[in-house]
Amino acid sequence: RSKEKGGNSYHYYHPDMNKRSLHKLNLEIHLRKALERGEFRLLYQPLVDLKNGTIRGMESLVRWQHPEWGMISPAEFIPLAEETGLIVPMGNWILKQACLQNKAWLEQGYNPLCVSVNISAIQFHQPQFVSVIEETLQESGLDPGLLCLEITEGVAMNSGPHVMETMDKLKSLGVRISIDDFGTGYSSLSYLKRFRVHTLKIDQSFIRDVTSDEDNAAIVTALIAMSRQLKITSLAEGVETREQLEFLLAQGCDEIQGYVFSKPVSAQEFEEMIRQNKQLFLTK
Ligand code: C2E
Ligand code: MG
Ligand code: MG
Ligand code: MG
Repeated sequence: RSKEKGGNSYHYYHPDMNKRSLHKLNLEIHLRKALERGEFRLLYQPLVDLKNGTIRGMESLVRWQHPEWGMISPAEFIPLAEETGLIVPMGNWILKQACLQNKAWLEQGYNPLCVSVNISAIQFHQPQFVSVIEETLQESGLDPGLLCLEITEGVAMNSGPHVMETMDKLKSLGVRISIDDFGTGYSSLSYLKRFRVHTLKIDQSFIRDVTSDEDNAAIVTALIAMSRQLKITSLAEGVETREQLEFLLAQGCDEIQGYVFSKPVSAQEFEEMIRQNKQLFLTK
């Protein structure tokens, strides 16, 4: 329960409220404060082009840097942020930060990179979503083609008129769309035809055992082939080993992301990588 008073919400609880909801309530209050105090920060993980092993973009991944609890992973707080609606202001901040950072690197003379930003379904379904994207691009001065929105199949699959309209507007703005965690959500593929997304990110659960599990190998092979036929960029997520990389190269996968090249790093560390033109060594 919550009450509104003077614009601030405060909370009270019933004696029968269980421990879990108390814990959640507490977290929610902390989450709200964290946003005001600027305790969130973005890490960047390189997206590597397998044609030449160079960095072609980066995914922004949010972290909560709590003064006492330390670094908290998004798996812990994104679901709660979604439940409470805090994901909207938080997501706006993330979007802005990622665009400003990408623009700053461009202005420093680095090669143009495309920054990928994770978009929660709650954000996507906000009536103001497209105008938020538009404003963020304007305010940051970033070329729309250098912003990629990562959405999950669940969002893209919903073929209601609102989703269609939003996708079309985003497309006419010129931003890119990736389907994140591809293969783990709904099985309907018809949206791929309807929306012409830019990239399919093959979920890391298929990549993990790709060199030992025949079924995963078959799925990954088929997804890469399908992407190629549809002229959609294929990207393998969570590539950790040289063996996985060799498999993906042999199948003609376009791009990879994973510890085999780099884990997500701070903006400073990422800048160091692009300054040194860090490259993935490819045996061909
Ligand atoms: P995701 O979008 O699928 O992001 C990829 C996740 O895989 C990241 O976890 C990344 O650190 C991890 N990863 C990358 N390479 C490897 C690898 O080689 N091995 C393994 N084991 N893991 C790898 P992270 O940063 O903990 O993020 C988890 C999820 O939280 C993301 O999955 C995304 O769904 C969500 N998330 C992260 N940042 C944001 C954000 O800014 N907004 C929203 N809405 N969600 C976010
Ligand atoms: Mg993602
Ligand atoms: Mg993913
Ligand atoms: Mg994921």
